[in-house]
Amino acid sequence: MSLSIRWRLTASIVVAILFTVAVILLTLRFALERVVSDDLDGRLSADSRQIETQLATVGSLDRTAIREILAPVTFEAVVRDAQGDALATTPGFDPDGFALTAEDLARVMGGAVLHQEEPVRGELTRIRTERVEVAGEIGLVQVGETASHLKRVVDALELALIAEGLGALALAAVTGYWLGRIALQPVDDVVGLAREIEATDLGRRLEEEHRPAEIRRLAHTFNAMLERLSRAFEQQREFVMDVSHELRTPLTALRGTVEVLLMDDRLDSETRAQLERLSAELERLTRLVANLVYLANADVGRAIERRAVELDALCWEVEAQAKSLRPGVVLRTGHHEQISVEGDRDLLKQVVLNLVDNGMKYTHAGGRVTLSVYRDGETARIEVVDTGPGIPPDELARIFDRYFQGRRTGGRHAGGLGIGLAISEWIVREHGGTLEVESEVGKGSKFTVRLPAIAAV
Ligand code: ADP
Repeated sequence: MSLSIRWRLTASIVVAILFTVAVILLTLRFALERVVSDDLDGRLSADSRQIETQLATVGSLDRTAIREILAPVTFEAVVRDAQGDALATTPGFDPDGFALTAEDLARVMGGAVLHQEEPVRGELTRIRTERVEVAGEIGLVQVGETASHLKRVVDALELALIAEGLGALALAAVTGYWLGRIALQPVDDVVGLAREIEATDLGRRLEEEHRPAEIRRLAHTFNAMLERLSRAFEQQREFVMDVSHELRTPLTALRGTVEVLLMDDRLDSETRAQLERLSAELERLTRLVANLVYLANADVGRAIERRAVELDALCWEVEAQAKSLRPGVVLRTGHHEQISVEGDRDLLKQVVLNLVDNGMKYTHAGGRVTLSVYRDGETARIEVVDTGPGIPPDELARIFDRYFQGRRTGGRHAGGLGIGLAISEWIVREHGGTLEVESEVGKGSKFTVRLPAIAAV
């Protein structure tokens, strides 16, 4: 799975903040613990000093004197002899609360100061044990202060720090995502514009000014690519136009010559049939060249001429021109109603010729193609119905695609390039109309053109 840059940015910020916050929290926690325990140890040391000073004043480790010394103190204390046996305690205190192991006793006797934390009467207590020497007598002084409340302070602080850390994390996530949005907004803008350009024309360019440096470079590169692309398309278009123009003149001359030859009454029937076939092929070739020209123009969005076109007259013309396109297939005149639309006559004629030609081309000998024009209120409807092979359902959606040719109809062998329907659909759309098809395999096809009609006067 690939994460978007925005999420990656957010995740990086969160990880960085998480790390920083964790380091700060741990440092704070340990520093506080240190300060608190140092403070406690300081107090214990003062407690111990107080007892030692008073013992020195008394001048012996006498039980009664020690008991008197310990009576008023506000902390717990035990004074022991060199064997670790308790001599006296603060009033009511059980000396076992500050019990010493033999090992610890030996360490203290060796001069070490011992710090322990033990629960005493249900409270965590820090105990300091130290050796004392009073007038040559060796003993031990143990003092203890509760550490519970200090631990509670550390715990409370720890909890507060964790809560603040989590808050900081949430804030970092939101800020990170928001920053990502701001940082990447220019990229989104460029993508949006690029998508629009793809859908419309290659002549548009992304604005390069007033953008951050990185985005300006991206827009510049994209524009340079568009420039190259549009130059390549333009060259291709010019090539198609040039070739089509070069082909048009000889084709017109050839058609004229064949027409003249056909006027000769002395022709035998065999030669006449061959010349008629030649004429039909020339007719088709001429239309193919015209389709190529329209295809090249479709890409540059050429404006359509807007004049009144009488569709019924146009259909009569097509019938006359196409009736001998395919010997053996009858082109019938169906319903003909008088109706006009606004548009380019040559282009509209090309549409009807393309549809009729397809019908004749794909229908087997003995079949029929019927051309009709209807008025449906505000709409003109042209129908081309054939009794041909029909179009399989899986191909129906694709026949209007450029260069698509059906597999059952013989593809390229049947002549054509797979552009007739694509061009026809483009022309009809440019006229504000629709081109639809209904077809059943084995029965035939019906192509319907609908165009907005000019209101009858
Ligand atoms: P072309 O006829 O040059 O192949 P078109 O764009 O005119 O290109 O048609 C595309 C495809 O649609 C054809 O190859 C054919 O398979 C199918 N087709 C078009 N008209 C008919 C029709 N009247 N009957 C059967 N198939 C058709």
